Amino acid sequence: TYVVVENCIKCKYTDCVEVCPVDCFYEGENTLVINPDECIDCGVCEPECPAEAILPDTEDGIEDWLEINQKFAEVW
Ligand code: SF4
Repeated sequence: TYVVVENCIKCKYTDCVEVCPVDCFYEGENTLVINPDECIDCGVCEPECPAEAILPDTEDGIEDWLEINQKFAEVW
């Protein structure tokens, strides 16, 4: 799965939402989040993000953000 991280805070762009083929972006507390159960790992959103706030979950130190993405995606 891909994960939205801190660069997304206060970002007003939704380019990622528009390109996601499975619509797995949701509104978090102060970022967008990706539902890790719905993300098909296509990678299309990563280069679209103007804030470079989307990273693959293989990135070091991303566990906390993965949890945040999971938590806020579950609200829906
Ligand atoms: Fe959507 Fe693909 Fe990005 Fe996952 S990697 S959030 S499926 S655009």
